[in-house]
Amino acid sequence: MNEARTNLLGFSPAELIDYCGTLDEKPFRAKQLQRWIHQFGVSDFTGMTDLAKSLRGKLEKYAEIRAPAVIRDHTSADGTRKWLLDVGQGNAIETVYIPEDNRGTLCVSTQAGCAVNCLFCSTGKQGFSRNLTAAEIIGQLWMAEFALRRAKNMPEGKGERQISNVVMMGMGEPLFNFDASVSALRLMLDDNAYGLSRRRVTVSTSGVVPMIDRLARECPVALAVSLHATNDPLRDKLVPLNRKHPLPELMAACRRYLEYAPRDFITFEYCMLDGINDTDAHAKELVRLVQTGPDPVSCKLNLIPFNSIPMPGLKRSSDERIAAFAKILQDAGIVTTVRKTRGEDIDAACGLLAGEIKDRTRVKERMAESGMMPVSIVQDYRFQSNC
Ligand code: SAH
Ligand code: SF4
Repeated sequence: MNEARTNLLGFSPAELIDYCGTLDEKPFRAKQLQRWIHQFGVSDFTGMTDLAKSLRGKLEKYAEIRAPAVIRDHTSADGTRKWLLDVGQGNAIETVYIPEDNRGTLCVSTQAGCAVNCLFCSTGKQGFSRNLTAAEIIGQLWMAEFALRRAKNMPEGKGERQISNVVMMGMGEPLFNFDASVSALRLMLDDNAYGLSRRRVTVSTSGVVPMIDRLARECPVALAVSLHATNDPLRDKLVPLNRKHPLPELMAACRRYLEYAPRDFITFEYCMLDGINDTDAHAKELVRLVQTGPDPVSCKLNLIPFNSIPMPGLKRSSDERIAAFAKILQDAGIVTTVRKTRGEDIDAACGLLAGEIKDRTRVKERMAESGMMPVSIVQDYRFQSNC
């Protein structure tokens, strides 16, 4: 493989036009190329049959279409499929596909690690390594969509779309990797690429207030905000970013976002932690938080049962407690759902890879045993996701 080749996978339509210009090719070639890449999943330029032979020759010499390499690929008994992907220098990320009756959702990562360091999150516990590039983010959708089509024996480029929804809820804080995340989002929405509607693409954030406003202006997709606490002293502890952007600021940003949002509500995610944020008093405080102020925040609540990570003092709330908490919200007229745990047998549920971190040696052994990677490479991988 020629290292100097230009990877076209994360290129925007404008960047592809510029690139075609550098090859002395007309701008309309860019659209053709984009379709071959993102609609037909073709990575071999020789297969791009409506491109002139001379152009195919140039592309073969100077360009490539490369997604992060798959280290591991597991499918759970419930159909949830999880890929571990190599992003170089000992970093790996995860992508999870969750099939449901009427939709297929892909959970993508935006960073290797995360600097926010929420108390209950295994990604945060590992620290921040680096931002993913646009190619690495969109590459997760590209890789997954065409792997799923192949699994159903659909010939390359043909067949029904498998992924109908994308959530940026894997590893990392998307709004701390704004430019690459937005480039990837735009490709998800582009009719010459994946053509997903804005309502079916969700960015989840821990509350990077200025970037919530930028997202509203530059690429308003569905927004999920990881709330997890109902007052500032508690949220300061659970989500340290709250010290910089406290709740009144965050709620104001949510109200502003609603003016641009493709859905008429914000989804609040709330990780249920036994005795910490799950009492009736917290539920009532939560109702006040979203329903009072200058105007209520139109929202849905998504309660996420905590997936255990090795952190003393943190425990998942009981099912009864979660139900009682949900009832208080529902009685106040707030649409509330409890996130189903999917893919537990392959550690694909929210934060579940934490179990593997406890024993990283075992993980390395398993990866080596799988024969997918030589032990020497497997040694240094760090990974887990929140999907
Ligand atoms: N950084 C972004 C997106 C990735 S995290 C954010 O925080 O929103 C995606 C979701 O998984 C967040 O709501 C996060 O709080 C949740 N999460 C993280 N660790 C978890 C755990 N151990 N159990 C349950 N949910 C968890
Ligand atoms: Fe980062 Fe989100 Fe995990 Fe917090 S919950 S540490 S913001 S990935």
